[in-house]
Amino acid sequence: MPPSSTVIPLAPHPATAPPRLAPNGKRFFIWTIGCQMNEADSAKVAAMLQEVGYRRTEDETDADIVVLNSCVVRQAAEDKVAGKLNSLARLKRERPQMPLVLTGCMVTNQQEKLKERFPHVDLFFDPSDFDRLQTVVPELADLEDDLQQLPHYYAPQAEGLSTDAGRAAVTAFVPIIYGCNFLCSYCIVPYRRGKETSRPLAEIVAEVERLVAGGVREVTLLGQTVNAYGHDLPDKPGLAGLLRAVDAVPGLERLRFLTSHPRYMSDEIIRTMAELPSCCEHMNLPVQAGDDEVLRRMRRTYSRELWRERIAFTRDQMPGCTVATDVIVGFPGETDAQFEQTYALLEDVACDKVHLAMYSPRPGTLSARWEDDVPHAEKLRRHQALEALQVRLCTERNARRLGETVEVLVEGKAKGRWTGRTRGNQLVHFDDAADRLGQLVDVRITQTSPWFFVGEAVGPGR
Ligand code: SAM
Ligand code: SF4
Repeated sequence: MPPSSTVIPLAPHPATAPPRLAPNGKRFFIWTIGCQMNEADSAKVAAMLQEVGYRRTEDETDADIVVLNSCVVRQAAEDKVAGKLNSLARLKRERPQMPLVLTGCMVTNQQEKLKERFPHVDLFFDPSDFDRLQTVVPELADLEDDLQQLPHYYAPQAEGLSTDAGRAAVTAFVPIIYGCNFLCSYCIVPYRRGKETSRPLAEIVAEVERLVAGGVREVTLLGQTVNAYGHDLPDKPGLAGLLRAVDAVPGLERLRFLTSHPRYMSDEIIRTMAELPSCCEHMNLPVQAGDDEVLRRMRRTYSRELWRERIAFTRDQMPGCTVATDVIVGFPGETDAQFEQTYALLEDVACDKVHLAMYSPRPGTLSARWEDDVPHAEKLRRHQALEALQVRLCTERNARRLGETVEVLVEGKAKGRWTGRTRGNQLVHFDDAADRLGQLVDVRITQTSPWFFVGEAVGPGR
């Protein structure tokens, strides 16, 4: 899951039952950075607080409780969290009774160290342990059983619509498996999120049913290793089984999942994607490096050939399927020749999207014990080289689609134009005087760029 640093407000969900407790005049403020899993966790915290009468505020100085949801996948993210925490010290001095809470991947089991560093924080809680919130919000204790039933999903709010509109949730992100059983040598996630734990299939299907009943048309299933889903459940449904069950929910138009691990990307999952009408023609399969020796030291457990072959099989089963991947440049010891292997693989496979990251040592991981020996300037050069490659590949590929008509699910407006995505997860903007929010609209592409399409609606939306 690529970390995103944008803070997107969450949409209320029209299908959600009214809160158990009446509004109590108190307000909460939540700040989130990181991947979609963090967004989903923040949505759960918001749902818990709303259940006991709190209301959301976008102004931290106006809040009765402030919750920060942190990411430490890279140093830059950790620095942002530390900056935000430090900036709240003054507010906390002025309003000492206001609980300040930190959750997310910055929270370790050695909380004394965090307490020393940020003494003004009242509660640190592990993202898997929502019950700890009772420490500062005692009202939650009376609702314990009901809180377990609260949904766990994240629905981004379309731009320009007030949260009261109750009609903005067109897409939703639903966690299906928590944690990770791999130990990639650079990655902090398994230390902070624990072992893989799948949610029961029936619980996920019920949640999707509620979302669809409330107007959601596209669901993305989430997990760090989403395609490992179900191996820890008694009847081992597997991701393919879950995809079938979710596809059968009447009214669901589009189904996606991320992030997959190449090791678990089985023929069965790919064939199931190809067969099910709602499964979108989009594959998110991080490669991280294109050199076998670097992959071995990253402890990724596959070869460049395996990744290439899985993409080839996917494209064979689903012609036109778009591909996204993640790559780290400047891993310890990565030579120029090894980087060239990554470059050549990406040029050959020609992905539609590459999430690029410069290696950042994470204390506690295996690779943090190795010398971070690729100089920053060289990491930057490799990053820029891959960025330029992607721009060239996507410019050429997208230009060939001029004049094509694509199906767009309209998620909101950006700079006055309707904005949505194709089934292949490509951004499309178009002008239309009619209200298109939440509609599937056929759009003819009139302009292309490496990052998005511009087009015009042909025919009515549905
Ligand atoms: N589970 C996914 C996988 O197996 O690829 C990725 C999860 S990771 C939280 C999200 C992305 O952050 C990774 O794909 C990787 O590119 C990047 N990342 C993780 N650790 C990193 C590090 N130490 N330095 C730079 N980038 C890192
Ligand atoms: Fe991190 Fe590797 Fe697990 Fe992905 S598979 S979350 S990169 S340890």
